[in-house]
Amino acid sequence: ALPGLVAPFGGAWLRGGGHLRVAALLAALARQGKAEGWLREETFTWEHVVSDGTSVTYAPGGLRARHVVCCQGAAALACPHFAWLPLTPNQGAVLDVAVPGLSTAQVLNRGAYVVPGVVPGQFRVGATYRWPPFAPEPGDADQRELAGRLAGVTALPFEVLSEQRGVRPAVRDRRPLLGRHPALPWLSLFGGFGSKGVSLAPRLALLLADYLDNRCELWPDVNLARYYKLYPAS
Ligand SMILES: Cc1cc2nc3c(=O)[nH]c(=O)nc-3n(C[C@H](O)[C@H](O)[C@H](O)COP(=O)(O)OP(=O)(O)OC[C@H]3O[C@@H](n4cnc5c(N)ncnc54)[C@H](O)[C@@H]3O)c2cc1C
Repeated sequence: ALPGLVAPFGGAWLRGGGHLRVAALLAALARQGKAEGWLREETFTWEHVVSDGTSVTYAPGGLRARHVVCCQGAAALACPHFAWLPLTPNQGAVLDVAVPGLSTAQVLNRGAYVVPGVVPGQFRVGATYRWPPFAPEPGDADQRELAGRLAGVTALPFEVLSEQRGVRPAVRDRRPLLGRHPALPWLSLFGGFGSKGVSLAPRLALLLADYLDNRCELWPDVNLARYYKLYPAS
């Protein structure tokens, strides 16, 4: 038995599993992008995009491009060109907790996931799902829910250190939204990842890049063309 684990009926062990330190990866990629000159960190404003039909200019910095890809997460809801898609924000919370004595040899998952943190003895516990309307101020409902679920995984005492929140870009049919805008050939979307962006985005980014370079077709399951009928002009 694993130290600290409540598992009266045993469990299943998945070999080859793991977890990604997303914040550290994104920070490292941003450093690389800025050093190599392919990333500028600033707020993008759609009103500054001007197209002559084949290519596009973005006034700040005088950028010229063949493609613009909207990858704003749930903020794509506010993009003037994609408001017609069935994208809904879904709010989620995770807790960082200290559980002295709980095994760090694995990610635990039963009712909640419990992922070993960078600091020994600390774990991330997730996650909640909330649909709009969201409470204006974070209450303690998420904390109570996650602490209750953690208590089902371990009988050890734990301390809640902090709570983090995020918004998932959820889609009606729970599939990502990739591909071209129905009327603006220079514009594409890379989004709708819901609760699976970390696992899906790397492979699907490659797919969209190959598609925009005319090297492949988009997979129908993720192609936003399945919603073209919702586009008001069609
Ligand atoms: C609590 C929680 C737990 C999760 N757990 C998992 C998990 O275990 N595994 C998994 O695969 N997924 C998980 N997800 C889902 C995952 O986080 C999302 O699917 C993913 O973040 C979506 O990626 P994205 O790049 O489309 O959007 P985002 O990650 O939201 O990134 C969009 C970025 O665009 C920026 N942006 C928006 N508008 C502008 C603008 N105008 N100018 C400049 N920048 C702009 C935003 O600031 C943001 O940095 C979880 C989500 C939550 C909330």
